[in-house]
Amino acid sequence: MPPTSVSPSPERVPVVVVGAGPAGLTVGAVLRGARVDCVVLETETREFIENRPRAGVVEEWAVRELQRRGLADNLLERAQPHTACEFRFDGERYRFDYGRLTGRHHFVYPQPLLVTDLVREYVDVRGGDARFSVRDVEPHDLDTDRPTVSYTCPETGRRRLLRCDFVVGADGARGVSRAALPPERVRVARHDYGIGWLALLAEAPPSSDCVLFGAHPRGFAGHMARSPEVTRYYLQCPPGDDPGNWPHDRVWAELRERLGAAGAAPLAEGRLIEKRVLDMHDYVVEPMAFGRLFLAGDAAHLIAPIAAKGMNLALHDAFLLGDALVTRLTSGDDSGLTGYSEAALRRVWDYQEFSQWLSELYHGSSAGDPFRAGTTLARLRRLFTSPTAAAAFAEQYLGTATRF
Ligand code: FAD
Repeated sequence: MPPTSVSPSPERVPVVVVGAGPAGLTVGAVLRGARVDCVVLETETREFIENRPRAGVVEEWAVRELQRRGLADNLLERAQPHTACEFRFDGERYRFDYGRLTGRHHFVYPQPLLVTDLVREYVDVRGGDARFSVRDVEPHDLDTDRPTVSYTCPETGRRRLLRCDFVVGADGARGVSRAALPPERVRVARHDYGIGWLALLAEAPPSSDCVLFGAHPRGFAGHMARSPEVTRYYLQCPPGDDPGNWPHDRVWAELRERLGAAGAAPLAEGRLIEKRVLDMHDYVVEPMAFGRLFLAGDAAHLIAPIAAKGMNLALHDAFLLGDALVTRLTSGDDSGLTGYSEAALRRVWDYQEFSQWLSELYHGSSAGDPFRAGTTLARLRRLFTSPTAAAAFAEQYLGTATRF
């Protein structure tokens, strides 16, 4: 039921989107592109979301979809195409040139830049209504055809009520939308890798022209360019570890050790401007819809950043859901909405499976189990000895499969 002490004049809008991350903003921009009105509610400020560092790898199909919808102009001008990655194991370097193998590539474009572009396009160009710094967002009556969303307005401190036809839950892993699903109507499948990653941003230029993956007996280490001045690094660590256990010198010593290989250039070191521990776990909510609520992105499925897939899945959901809402609201055809969850989940599960497979490649050597270390080494070597295995890896790494 809607709350009782709300502003006397509830507003009416076809769609309320909860959350202004890549998923919510893309849905908003798709709706506004078709002149469908919506309100995006976001708990943080615009400045905060435009600066929150996270992802950086965008798959080529996602960029083409953004481009088709007029959302990729800056990205295409500024993103770096990446065509190779390098595995380091057994003291050697193994370059995997997926660009040459497939003719396809990744784009490296930091998430804050993409979010900045999407906010500008949704709010400033397409005239979308985004309300930042809102508090206590609550969806109501989702299983009726008159759902509402209430929230506390930051300026007046009063509750406001939005009446709508549809609610998009795109409020990430810690939002309120997922919690609004009645537990008896959904299944939440979870997986815990039992490991942590120390996620680092270094004020240092990239030390290689490509992504580096170190599969080392001391644990995984990763290197990913973000910009000419900033590089993301990862170090495997115990789950729940305290970033305070990782002073500057220890971080760089471990990175040098785990990414060390014959003939490798020394790492360009710099000040660490982000240092936090991510516990590696996944979940998938099935179905991704309940009544008039449709989940998108991390609200529906979390995928550990092992394979750099989370933002790509958020965009995939947003394209499907944005189009389905436009069709429903402009022509009354609800087939897209009915099929949304199933269509989105096929790619979600495919990416989750790849993430699990890749996790063993990264972490098997340091599991303390000689049998797993042996099979991990075999799996790594196979990528460089079997063209079939290489092609399968490239397809999953790039997300280029046409059917799931
Ligand atoms: P979010 O980006 O989390 O956006 C949700 C929004 O909702 C936020 O702005 C939040 O403030 C807001 N919100 C929360 N609660 C509420 C509420 N109650 N009411 C209103 N608003 C609310 N993915 C990749 O594809 N490639 C990568 O290279 C990659 N690297 C990553 C590295 C790291 C360190 C991390 C942490 C993640 C990485 N990811 C990567 C994952 C990617 O960042 C996420 O999958 C992506 O942000 C999901 O987008 P989203 O819009 O679903 O959710």
